[in-house]
Amino acid sequence: MEKKMGVYICTGCGIGDAIDIEPIKDLVDEEFNISICKEHPFLCSPEGVELIKQDIDNEGVNTIIICACSPRVNQDVFFFGPDKIVERVNLREHVAWSQEPKDEDTQMLAEDYVRMGCSKAKDMELPEPFKAEQEYSKDILVVGGGLAGMTAALEVAKAGYKAIIVEKEDSLGGFLKKMKKRVAPPYEDLYDTGLEELVKQVNDNPNIKVYTSAVVEKTSGAPGLFSVQIKTNGSVAEEKVGAIIQATGWVPYDPKRLESLGYGKFKDVITNVELEQMASNGGIKRPSDGQSPKNVLFIQCAGQRDSEHLPYCSSVCCLVTLKQAAYIKEQDPEAVCYVLFKDMRTVGQAEEFYKKSQLAGNIFIRGTITQIGEEGGKLFIEAEDEFLGEKIRLEELDLVVLATGMVPSSQPEETPKMKAPEGAEDADEEGMIEVPPDSGFYAKPALNLEYRQGPELPTLRYGFPDSHFICFPYETRRTGIYTAGCIRRPMETARVIDDATGAAMKAIQCVEMTEKGMAVHPRSGDLSYPEVNLQRCTQCKRCTEECPFGAINEDEKANPLFNPTRCRRCGTCMGACPERVISFKNYSVVMIGNMINVINVPEEEEEKPRILVFVCENDAYPAIDMAGIKRYKWSPYVRFIPLRCLGSLNLVWIADALSRGIDGILLLGCRHGDDYQCHFIKGSELATVRLSKISETLERLALESERVRFEEVGISDYWRIPQIIEDFMNTIEEVGPNPYKGF
Ligand code: SF4
Ligand code: SF4
Repeated sequence: MEKKMGVYICTGCGIGDAIDIEPIKDLVDEEFNISICKEHPFLCSPEGVELIKQDIDNEGVNTIIICACSPRVNQDVFFFGPDKIVERVNLREHVAWSQEPKDEDTQMLAEDYVRMGCSKAKDMELPEPFKAEQEYSKDILVVGGGLAGMTAALEVAKAGYKAIIVEKEDSLGGFLKKMKKRVAPPYEDLYDTGLEELVKQVNDNPNIKVYTSAVVEKTSGAPGLFSVQIKTNGSVAEEKVGAIIQATGWVPYDPKRLESLGYGKFKDVITNVELEQMASNGGIKRPSDGQSPKNVLFIQCAGQRDSEHLPYCSSVCCLVTLKQAAYIKEQDPEAVCYVLFKDMRTVGQAEEFYKKSQLAGNIFIRGTITQIGEEGGKLFIEAEDEFLGEKIRLEELDLVVLATGMVPSSQPEETPKMKAPEGAEDADEEGMIEVPPDSGFYAKPALNLEYRQGPELPTLRYGFPDSHFICFPYETRRTGIYTAGCIRRPMETARVIDDATGAAMKAIQCVEMTEKGMAVHPRSGDLSYPEVNLQRCTQCKRCTEECPFGAINEDEKANPLFNPTRCRRCGTCMGACPERVISFKNYSVVMIGNMINVINVPEEEEEKPRILVFVCENDAYPAIDMAGIKRYKWSPYVRFIPLRCLGSLNLVWIADALSRGIDGILLLGCRHGDDYQCHFIKGSELATVRLSKISETLERLALESERVRFEEVGISDYWRIPQIIEDFMNTIEEVGPNPYKGF
């Protein structure tokens, strides 16, 4: 598109009090040859917006540079149609609200930001939405026909979409089939499971197709374009779907590993799952003699919150025990139930049911079991009672029930191993290492994805295939594939229903956005996607390996094959590519490089250092905005450049900036590790890894390693921003000016 650029400067919100507008108008004209540059005292008002619209209509302006508030606000106000490019320059939070007004350095800062904005707008092209040649499908595949799967399918169907359920057993229901009753909001009583009605609703719904005794044999393609082979009753059916919900549920923790609690040793030690099945199949009986139990002990956290077994809390077992104690009382009102617990975790309204259980005469003991044994055909236990501060002994127990926990169905029984790379320190004697959970090669088969990155969803440490436990529930590390229910994390039935509804909504969003060529979140609505110049590609595979979402396959010659509908538009591939052949229409290595090039770098004797800060736009940028809103002050020598994700950081920017005389480079990215907050999973972590390789560049330039620093910044860390900047400024002062200034 032929660009006609216009620059619009707001002098409201304190901007006009902090900086002189005339010199900015001059530089826009002289340095960028942009003749239209106007100011307005209240640019986001109807009159201010009208000023811009007049220029669009009368002057043909189609590339609009708004120098005003943060790009995070007023996006709707400064939207002039999909055929216009809009670039925002943050003169409010990052200049007027955080710097000394009418100061020479404040003015230089504002001028640099306007330069960077003009340069960026010049290099930017209007993204054209990706449209595949094949027809898109908006049908949604649901793998698993339990409570989560059936609920998700019904929600999908209610919204007018088609759902396809694949259930491995010969009938729908999942664990609900084994349950006698549910305990659910308002937690006043036990309720029917509702299984029959739910199955009827699914079977009667013309928008839902059900495959039973079926497994997914192969899933290929991408969102909007998935092709799924379903093996059922000896034949293979093929379905085209737009999105997938994995609702394959959970399995009980293997009780054979709980011999110390008497399981497998004493017949009358059973699990909560076994008790549930007995309750729904004719009544609860002692396995040893078939008698109805009179004295029952429930042992909570059987294997859970225990580093030897399941280190996490399964969150439902306390409630399940209260429910099962009610079964016992219902069967025999004279029976006595004891509950030996570490903590009773009955959150929210469920506390009501706990109180009810106490009032029903059940006896709760906080303590730890030290011994279990059998005497005269009855069980006994010894325990440390925390409240009494002494040892206790319970005798004449007819039944001991272990409240075992939930393991995601994706978790393999044994950690799979793979051949260790050369020199790996943690290899065993056979030269093997454990497959990391965050690879798609770890989990048990459910989807059989034809992805270069592995056949299943990458999982978190304990086998749950989640991707961002803080911001994006239901998301996984494979775009267009969502998880719902206990495959995602342990949860009670009421939450499973909410969860499945949420996952259905995400799947619907995905098929709709995909059809329009838009990204799903976190860059919802983004129309850009990575384009690669294959002629200059060296087949190094870095993009394929580093893409956090498995969006890139390879052809037989190892050329990267991008699947744009799998892409979340993070730019990690762009940052990874040593040949710099990956770019987006509105985000590229050249574009950021040119922004760095227009920063005015004063001579050494002026004693005005320049610090470049690459800022993650998901967390660090809003934190800086918040610091500005709070009127915190920081050095006027820093220049922020927002990045889609620090994973998109290309090392060439650092090398170029340092060789231009920029004194220091700070990277502000998300926390990584187990509690990572990176919206693109590992972008921030990859930036740190890449940064470790920058030493070579620094050495080549004979520069100090202190000139480049990475800091983790969460969205709520706004209060740390001035300190982070000040500490870095002090370091740069100590190492002195960059000797490349003026070259
Ligand atoms: S790295 Fe990010 S931008 Fe590149 S293909 Fe993967 S998801 Fe898309
Ligand atoms: S990172 Fe760049 S050079 Fe390497 S395979 Fe990908 S596109 Fe090709």
